[in-house]
Amino acid sequence: MYIGRFAPTPSGDLHFGSLVTAIASYCDARKVGGQWLLKIDDIDKQRVKNYSVQSILKTLESLNLFWDLTESYQSHRLEEYEFYFEKLSGMNKTYRCDCSRKYLSNNAKLGEDGYIYPGFCKNKNLMNHNSFSTRMEVNKIPIVVEDQIQGKISQNLSKEIGDFVIKRSDRQFSYQFSVCVDNKLDKITNIVRGADLLSSTPRQIYLQKLLDFNIPKFSHIPIATIDKKKISKSDDYKILIKSNQKDIWIKVLNFLNQPISKTFSQMNLEEIIEYAIKNWAMEKISPSYSIDIF
Ligand code: GLU
Repeated sequence: MYIGRFAPTPSGDLHFGSLVTAIASYCDARKVGGQWLLKIDDIDKQRVKNYSVQSILKTLESLNLFWDLTESYQSHRLEEYEFYFEKLSGMNKTYRCDCSRKYLSNNAKLGEDGYIYPGFCKNKNLMNHNSFSTRMEVNKIPIVVEDQIQGKISQNLSKEIGDFVIKRSDRQFSYQFSVCVDNKLDKITNIVRGADLLSSTPRQIYLQKLLDFNIPKFSHIPIATIDKKKISKSDDYKILIKSNQKDIWIKVLNFLNQPISKTFSQMNLEEIIEYAIKNWAMEKISPSYSIDIF
């Protein structure tokens, strides 16, 4: 059984780029009669804006993007995260770290996804203390992702990422860690999301293997950019989702290079969605990292 999901962070209203991800993951699941779940990634309190959960649910519903089951919230899963965090801690591959951002910026190399952590605190044996973060030790064995859109990518975690944080110094679990537990709890089989998360995927596969979780299939779609800059929820740029629901669907299908019917203008929203699902062709999506929408 295919189980897919859409996992927005409630840091603002959905924008065109988020709708691309929502619609792509929805069509991919519905095409094969699979489930499509909604998970609200609200664990990072600093990023959460209170109004935005309601706004996200409303926008999805207005586009007829109805999810199965009740939506889940990362903030309700702290016990489960703690359970698996203890499991990882018991493997003797985690250690505490007190390096500040400033220290890293002066002493570590900047990689594709932040500073490459060379293990400054690995042998310090820092005692448990509230202001320390917890890092996961990695190794040199390349992790290969067979992405259904971007093709095969390989990452050497120790060279390209370094030991990474699974619990932050403010005691919040990191995205890299929490998303793996979520996939396990929700029994996710397929993940369709933006290509900005492609470089995170090997870390997630690494954790999933350590915890003996099933590894979902990944499809990373190009992110929508304006002048090569990622659109973000905190931007004021909302114009693209101010259009009517039919237009949004058509714009997104165009962005994803999906078949467009000549009769879309005479169809209602339900008919467009039915057409989109029936003709959904993941292989037509461009394997690029980003696409400018203008
Ligand atoms: N919550 C993340 C975001 O809004 C997506 C996480 C995921 O799909 O794994 O960018």
